[in-house]
Amino acid sequence: MTRRSYFLQADQLRDSDHFVLFHENEVLVKGEEFVWQLDQLNLGLLGDSQMFLIEDEASAFVAVHATSSLVTQLEAENRSLRSLLFSEGDHAFSIAGKANQILDWYTTHRFCGRCGTPTQHHGSERAVFCPSCESHYYPRINPCAIVLVVRGRQVLLARSARFRSGFFSCLAGFIEVGESAEDTVLREVKEEVGILVDNIRYLKSQSWPFPSQLMLGFIAEYQSGEIVPEAGEIEEAGWYDIDNLPKVPIPGISVAGELIEHYVAQVRSGTL
Ligand SMILES: [Zn+2]
Repeated sequence: MTRRSYFLQADQLRDSDHFVLFHENEVLVKGEEFVWQLDQLNLGLLGDSQMFLIEDEASAFVAVHATSSLVTQLEAENRSLRSLLFSEGDHAFSIAGKANQILDWYTTHRFCGRCGTPTQHHGSERAVFCPSCESHYYPRINPCAIVLVVRGRQVLLARSARFRSGFFSCLAGFIEVGESAEDTVLREVKEEVGILVDNIRYLKSQSWPFPSQLMLGFIAEYQSGEIVPEAGEIEEAGWYDIDNLPKVPIPGISVAGELIEHYVAQVRSGTL
């Protein structure tokens, strides 16, 4: 089979394709299902929408920027991507997350940032380019550091002004220009809760498509200082015994949950 462009036309679609549709930054869902098949969709209306190929060895998904007419015809429910996080499996969510990042990238790169000319689709890469000055633009990710600060049997958890009420998690922040991820850990912990940490250890990373972060997960040990929550950023922060944790993110959904689970298991098994 011939290789398809990342920017799809209606005549390039295949019966085996799966579809994830977005409209005004929300996912279109019918029943509890957000993965659509070609025979559920009107090909004419689909042809007027922007479509992007997301393919791996196992399957081919098409991310669709659905037009209003397509949305009306489908009688679908609009749901936030975040709401799928808590109701869908890993693979399906990762496809929807990837689709969201690609659509967001495309929407914000319709004009060349260097000279203002409308961009065009690249023929063979997931990129757009400027026909005037030849600049190329690829989807970008934004690295963030997320850190679980620990002190023996205690972990430092905080509730951000942006979290749902009662939900505690690790500290996190964007990696700034010129910083290493470890620099970010030191700076964010100092800024957000006023303490110093050392022995910063990397554990694992996770793509976080809200809209395009890569979360690098660390564990760091408390060194000195008293907790002083940063006004406007942190509603509440404190030390929690591993046997008496507040409501925290679930492992498998967020790297924060995995950092906590990993550390708790280490303490309990005595392998620290
Ligand atoms: Zn240009």
